[in-house]
Amino acid sequence: MSLGRRVRIKTDEEVELIRLSSLLVGRTLAQVAARVQPGVTTLALDAVAEEFIRDHGAEPGFKGYGGFPNSLCTSVNEAVVHGIPNDTPLQEGDIVSVDCGVLMNGFYGDSAYTFAVGDVSEEVQRLLDTTKVCLDLAIEQAVVGKRIGDIGHACQQHAEGQGYGVVRELVGHGLGRDLHEAPEVPNYGRRGNGPKLMDGMVLAIEPMINLGGREVGQAEDGWTIVTRDGKVSAHFEHDVVVRQGKADVLSSFKDIEEVLNSKNTN
Ligand code: MG
Ligand code: MG
Repeated sequence: MSLGRRVRIKTDEEVELIRLSSLLVGRTLAQVAARVQPGVTTLALDAVAEEFIRDHGAEPGFKGYGGFPNSLCTSVNEAVVHGIPNDTPLQEGDIVSVDCGVLMNGFYGDSAYTFAVGDVSEEVQRLLDTTKVCLDLAIEQAVVGKRIGDIGHACQQHAEGQGYGVVRELVGHGLGRDLHEAPEVPNYGRRGNGPKLMDGMVLAIEPMINLGGREVGQAEDGWTIVTRDGKVSAHFEHDVVVRQGKADVLSSFKDIEEVLNSKNTN
């Protein structure tokens, strides 16, 4: 993806519009969360998401973007990102990364969550938990005075410390009137390196962490990114605005996790 070079700092008004879009993504993913179970197809999840987005006065952000055919990217097991929804039923023990974008009021929201389908192995659950921690650690670095490399370093350090592979070929990004804006936000990096983080920069931070090696390739469909070793990969994404002292997280997993918790207690 080509991001251009200019970082667009957002006004407070623009940040609030991005927040609205990002929150709608979280609510859409909660609709998806309620329906993830063995037997459901990713195409069915995609239909639910598209209808929910349109019912709330927004457009699916991914549909038609660069020719992508659907509203969700659904990446199952060894698929890392950019999976195309299909009619293969999910199976007990699978994981599925669901990445969703919306465009509303001229601004994008972009967030992703990896769901367990039924019960997954302890090994896979640990990968999901670790990837979420990587996201949290990365977000802690998204403050004025730090650099892009600090974000990547925090993620890489934690993931590799658990023996996981950190995908290099795909990265997070700026976000606003365009789905992908400068700067690139790698999930690896060196402390103190890269562009300076400035107040009002909006970033989509999205660790992609592999159970095995970090190498990935492209599937024959021309979209799906898959691990070379065929081991599973997890992906979580939040939109944040860089602030002094603490990043402001614009997207939310709250609705998603309420749904998941109620499923677990039923
Ligand atoms: Mg995304
Ligand atoms: Mg993104």
